[in-house]
Amino acid sequence: YIGHETLPRKNSHGFELTDPIAFAPLKQMVEASAGKTWSGGPIVDGIAGKADLAVLNPATGEVVGHTANTDAALIDKAFTSAAEHQRAWNRLGGEARAKILDKVADLYEQHLNELVAMICREAGRTLNDGISEVREAVDFCRYYANGARQHFGEPTILPGPTGESNELSLCGRGVFVCISPWNFPLAIFTGQVVAALAAGNAVLAKPAEQTPLIAARAVQLMHEAGIPQKVLHLITGTGAAIGKPLLDHPRVAGVAFTGSTETAKHINMQLAAKDGPIVPLIAETGGQNVMIVDSTALPEQVVDDVIQSAFLSAGQRCSALRVLCVQDVIADNLLNMLKGACEELVLGDPSKLETDIGPVIDEKALGLLEKHRERMSSEANPLFAFDENKRPQHGTFFGPQVVEITDINLLKREVFGPFLHVVRFKAEELEDVIHSINATGYGLTFGLHSRIEGRAGAIFKRIDAGNCYINRDMVGAVVGVNPFGGMGLSGTGPKAGGPHYLFRFANEKTKTVNT
Ligand code: GLU
Repeated sequence: YIGHETLPRKNSHGFELTDPIAFAPLKQMVEASAGKTWSGGPIVDGIAGKADLAVLNPATGEVVGHTANTDAALIDKAFTSAAEHQRAWNRLGGEARAKILDKVADLYEQHLNELVAMICREAGRTLNDGISEVREAVDFCRYYANGARQHFGEPTILPGPTGESNELSLCGRGVFVCISPWNFPLAIFTGQVVAALAAGNAVLAKPAEQTPLIAARAVQLMHEAGIPQKVLHLITGTGAAIGKPLLDHPRVAGVAFTGSTETAKHINMQLAAKDGPIVPLIAETGGQNVMIVDSTALPEQVVDDVIQSAFLSAGQRCSALRVLCVQDVIADNLLNMLKGACEELVLGDPSKLETDIGPVIDEKALGLLEKHRERMSSEANPLFAFDENKRPQHGTFFGPQVVEITDINLLKREVFGPFLHVVRFKAEELEDVIHSINATGYGLTFGLHSRIEGRAGAIFKRIDAGNCYINRDMVGAVVGVNPFGGMGLSGTGPKAGGPHYLFRFANEKTKTVNT
């Protein structure tokens, strides 16, 4: 198929946290980083700007570094510089760019422990999540590097009439703005930036305001690997403070965004309203992700997969499970087992190995979850509520919750955290369940647990979701293996870590010569 990976490549290796020898260097790094602060202001032309706004560790509330709202003049300077140097970067060709991106992957691997410690302290992610995240970032680099080699080198020769030669080539569009979220502050940040660079664009990268420090470190490593300082700039700040100068600039040639559906729509309107060229938006947004469990499912496996999908990473993945639809005949038994598993979950310090669930990102996220819990206390039947006495005193922690509701469409918006909703259905209602999943308008991940032959295939054809997982958990898409991205309210479709992603960052040119 188009874009199929033909060059050899391996995804990065795992890391055994329970092996004390393998774990020792990371443990040391995490301990050494305690109390340390980092700088995460703008980096334009390789020069770090001043940073005076505090960045907080969500697990403790302590200051872990400083960032800044980049001012409009500096944003303009970054665009001018990026536009000036983009053509030379594009002319370098796929192979030369790929070598540099492979070097970024090598540097990330060499700095794995440092990066994991930063992710843990700045974003409150557990060590396990931090390691997976660095690995994903490494995989993005090598995967898109190979994409650059394969598709951004020699043009494709096309058939044509006698006396005419035709060829098709790909090139960068210009300056891409990459706006990334805090929930994967290294992996998604890197994935967007590296894809745009691989395709021959210059980049202004705008990380989430909650996680600029790890982004600044990533940009340093990218420059060290050989990405020209004038081709990649870091622009920090809140959407409210810098969204306008960043998106209204006439040099914007494309935008890659991962975050909420509301913000994606807002960006889309802003881009459509401005003068100048038509600017494409690549958006990956939220989900109202459902798992259907029928009476033939293996309950132990379902419970494991539900815990993994709904609660780990504190439910702060756009792929996370939000609604579990269980067939009535197995529901009581399954929900009892699930309750037992929930009781075992450890909420707390993300830098400790025994922790399953770290904090949510900030006070605002915590407030939204508390408000939802309040609403559910009158509209739903409680099935499990985390023991509040076990909640850490400091930091923005929210204990996992499970409630039973009558209808998926009672939930109008994505609830971003460890909050699971359960709906029971009767065998004859399966059609209605499928209908109501599609009626949410979201289409990111979907899960099915069933041993009925043919059921998975039949449901897959009718569910509007970008990533369907059968008889397994529904998070942790692997680069080049589970291309990731949704449809409808969940995004504009391009699949991160998939064979067609780079094409969305490129222009296509046809050359026709009368010979
Ligand atoms: N790719 C991630 C996963 O498969 C989710 C990305 C996101 O939350 O934006 O779990």
